[in-house]
Amino acid sequence: MPKRVYGGVELDQYKEPTFSREIRRLDKPEKVYLPIDKEQFSMRYRQRVHQNQPVCPGVYAPLEVRFTGLQTFAHLDTSRQFAVFETAYEDIEDAPLAPIGRPKREYDAISGEDVIEIAKKMAIIDEYDGQYLYQKLQRAKEAGVTVLYANAIDDEPYVSAGMGVLYKMPHEVGIGLEFACRAVGAKESYALVYANVGDLDTPLKGSLSGMKVKKLYGNYPVYKRQAVQYRSGQNEMIGVCALVHLYRACRDDIPQTTCFITVGGSCVANPCNMEVPIGTPVYDIMEKAGLIKNPQVITLGGPMTGVAITDLDVPVEATTRAVITYEENMGASLEHDDCIGCGRCVQVCPRRLMPYYIRKYVKAGKTEECMHLHAERCIECACCSFICPMGIDLVAYVQRYSQELKAIEEAQKSRAQEAPQPQNAGENTQTEEENSCS
Ligand code: SF4
Ligand code: SF4
Repeated sequence: MPKRVYGGVELDQYKEPTFSREIRRLDKPEKVYLPIDKEQFSMRYRQRVHQNQPVCPGVYAPLEVRFTGLQTFAHLDTSRQFAVFETAYEDIEDAPLAPIGRPKREYDAISGEDVIEIAKKMAIIDEYDGQYLYQKLQRAKEAGVTVLYANAIDDEPYVSAGMGVLYKMPHEVGIGLEFACRAVGAKESYALVYANVGDLDTPLKGSLSGMKVKKLYGNYPVYKRQAVQYRSGQNEMIGVCALVHLYRACRDDIPQTTCFITVGGSCVANPCNMEVPIGTPVYDIMEKAGLIKNPQVITLGGPMTGVAITDLDVPVEATTRAVITYEENMGASLEHDDCIGCGRCVQVCPRRLMPYYIRKYVKAGKTEECMHLHAERCIECACCSFICPMGIDLVAYVQRYSQELKAIEEAQKSRAQEAPQPQNAGENTQTEEENSCS
């Protein structure tokens, strides 16, 4: 039985040997699936696109590719379309993923406004929260943020992609952070790392390439809890991988076409952190890490918050931070439904919610009646599902609550818009105001 603590759970981290190994690269998968907006996509069958060229606005080819069709994936939102590209290397020897040679731009000549423009043009996405980097920088600038943090808080078991990038590529992260500070006008910057990781072979350094590293301890969830503190007021956090892409974009004018992920779990022989082209199917990634057993479950993301998949063609995206394989399915499920009222889910909830009550109301279809339980404060850390001895997927009920609530709010909004407006409303209001003053 996992250890529970009030407001979180204590988890074994299993970050070795992944963290200590060099970051590997997967250069040439046979095909990639790129997310597109169908309205703006107009490629012909077998049309060729060169590496780093756009396939539609905001989406760039990670390799030399040819368009071969469209596809959706059942486990992802099925309204999302992916364009399928086969890689085409008949006439090209190699196409390195990372920039080489001299920088194309002088760093000092790049202004803060330039940095925001470059982040926008190169479609850089923060891997931790999925937001466009240029929007985060713009908002932070307008809010007068003074301290920026390079986010490498990997608090879920197995996942060390952020820590790996921070400790293996500190130079790139450091310059990316400098550019981000320039864009925002921030005066101070630090790196944040989850340090409650007893299984590491080497201690975590407190300073890297001139960057001060703040170590965060405590039980899971730390990232989602700290996000509230480190993203409030004068602070903002930016994912370390997004900072590496910002560095490359400013240095060499290249768009974000790769992501950094942890490939791990008991079904691969060589767990490691890897840089892979966005759109690479999960199967190719597992093969590269030495698939030795048939996994019963695979998660895109860590074991606490990742999405379970069965289709091995599913592609990784800019926000994918891990592909973890498991021999057994130990996860919570909506099929389990016999709550014994032990109260553990309440004890571990870091937001002091009552997950089993929320589940009860949602199951009974009384979404509106559980508003007083403040389920909207849920940070989807999944501690409740993890600790439940009956294997009930409580976080799925809370997510369902959010969706139903959203639908109710939208219905209310459209009813209000459709309702006939009283004639001469302006005049009436004025009369009421005048009356109330008199
Ligand atoms: S209810 Fe939400 S915040 Fe509370 S433990 Fe469950 S997932 Fe985490
Ligand atoms: S942890 Fe599971 S069994 Fe215990 S009260 Fe919560 S839902 Fe019920």
